[in-house]
Amino acid sequence: MATGGDSVPNVHSNTDSSNKTLLKSQALYKYVLDTTVLPNEPECMRELRLVTDKHERWYMASPPDEAQLLRMLIKLTGAKNTIEVGVFTGYSLLATALALPDDGKVVAIDTSRGFYEVGRPFIEKAGVEHKVDFREGPGLERVDELLADERNLGRFDFAFVDADKPNYVRYLEQLLRLVRVGGIIVYDNTLWQGTVALPPDAPLSDHDRRISAAIRDLNIRIAADERVEVCQLTIADGVTICRRLV
Ligand code: CA
Repeated sequence: MATGGDSVPNVHSNTDSSNKTLLKSQALYKYVLDTTVLPNEPECMRELRLVTDKHERWYMASPPDEAQLLRMLIKLTGAKNTIEVGVFTGYSLLATALALPDDGKVVAIDTSRGFYEVGRPFIEKAGVEHKVDFREGPGLERVDELLADERNLGRFDFAFVDADKPNYVRYLEQLLRLVRVGGIIVYDNTLWQGTVALPPDAPLSDHDRRISAAIRDLNIRIAADERVEVCQLTIADGVTICRRLV
C-alpha cells in the first residue's frame, strides 16, 4: 500500500540551500560551486541569494549554477526580449537582466509583488532595473495579455518558466506563439527531485505526487512535440530547453 500523503515532508523544503542539486555527491556539487560558479557570481547576485536564503520560502529560488546557465544561454542566443514566468525574489531575474544587452527587456511575471520587492533593491543597485518589466498576477492570465497584442507574437527570443507546475503544459502552448522560431523556452524543476522516476507506490506527499505527475506529463509531451527540439539537463532540479522549430 502506498504511504505518504500529508505525513511525508515535501521533497524541496526537506533539504537546505547547499543541497539544491540532483548530483548524489555533495562533495562534487560543492566542488562545482566553489570552483566555477561562486567565484563568477556577480556580487549583486550573491547578496540577493544570501537574503533569499533567509526567506521562509528560500527553496523556491533557483540555485547559482542554474543562474549561471541562464546567463550563458541568454548570451549565446543573443536574446534581447525575454519572458520570465515565476520570479519569486528575482535571483534568476537579476541573472537575466545582467545578461541582456542594455536595450534588452524581460517581462517578469509573478503572483506576488511582495516577493519581487525583496529582489528589486538589488536589481536597482545593479543598474539593470530599466530592463525589467514586472507584472503581478497569475502567470496564465498575464501571458494571455501578452498574446492579446499581435505585435508580441514571435517577438520574444527566450522564456524561462518556473511557475505553477500544473500549468506547465499550458504555458508551452502560449509561449510557442510568443517566442520566435529558433528561440528557446526553458523549464525549471523538470525532474522534481528525481520523483519523476519513482515507482507509483513510493512515499510522497500529496503535493509532490501532484506536481510530479504534472512534470511527467510535460516531459512526455515535449519529448514527442514536433514543434520543438528538446534537451533535458540534469543540472539543479532538472532544466529542460525547448527550441522552437516551426
Ligand atoms: Ca524552480
